[in-house]
Amino acid sequence: MTHSQSLTRADLFDRLSEARAAVAGRAVFTTSFGIEDQAIAHAIFEGGFEIDVVTLDTGRLFPETTALWAQTEERYGRRIRGYYPDREPIEQLVADQGIDGFYHSLLARKACCNIRKVEPLKRALTGAALWITGLRAEQSDARSAVPFLAPDAGFGVLKANPLHDWTRDEVVAYTQAHGVPVNPLHDRGFPSIGCAPCTRAVAPGEPERAGRWWWEQESAKECGLHVGPDGRLQRVVKTETHA
Ligand code: SF4
Repeated sequence: MTHSQSLTRADLFDRLSEARAAVAGRAVFTTSFGIEDQAIAHAIFEGGFEIDVVTLDTGRLFPETTALWAQTEERYGRRIRGYYPDREPIEQLVADQGIDGFYHSLLARKACCNIRKVEPLKRALTGAALWITGLRAEQSDARSAVPFLAPDAGFGVLKANPLHDWTRDEVVAYTQAHGVPVNPLHDRGFPSIGCAPCTRAVAPGEPERAGRWWWEQESAKECGLHVGPDGRLQRVVKTETHA
């Protein structure tokens, strides 16, 4: 049996069961409605797991993403709770840097991600003991060592990445096999989908996350949601070679 064939719905269920059983408190799955997150949401909803499914509505999502949010709720008959930026900080940020000020500097971009994503995530994880995500090792160098289960120093929870060792093809096969709704942007060259102004389509052969914050250096990427055991942002330092 190949690795691909061994990745069945039961495997994802088993991993969710193992993660859920590892802690006694509240469990939260954060979805951004990418294909990995849709696979996990399917398993959670179909498996009846006691896991809160939430999303961070930054206010800058693609319309296709919000449409998929509604479609997913309709399909499974479950609410996916949205967490939003606080009004005063976001109004002040836009007043200070402009509506698209994140293009102007790394500092401005991180300030936007902090208000629109990181702070709402902190609220979403309040009182949680387990945080489930759709991270995969294959997605980028920064995620190459992502494990199935590990303590998350940044948020003080156990973090579960049940698809950590799945390939993209395996995730696609899973969603197709189970009729899981997926974002139509994936078929238009967007393997990774974040906020609309900060995500572009990638060319064939480009890394999956090349379209995220494409104007920045690779080593500066990530939005501040995922940190390593040392509490620092997960990333690798690359040695640049010049031909
Ligand atoms: S991805 Fe872009 S728009 Fe979204 S929160 Fe970060 S900087 Fe702001």
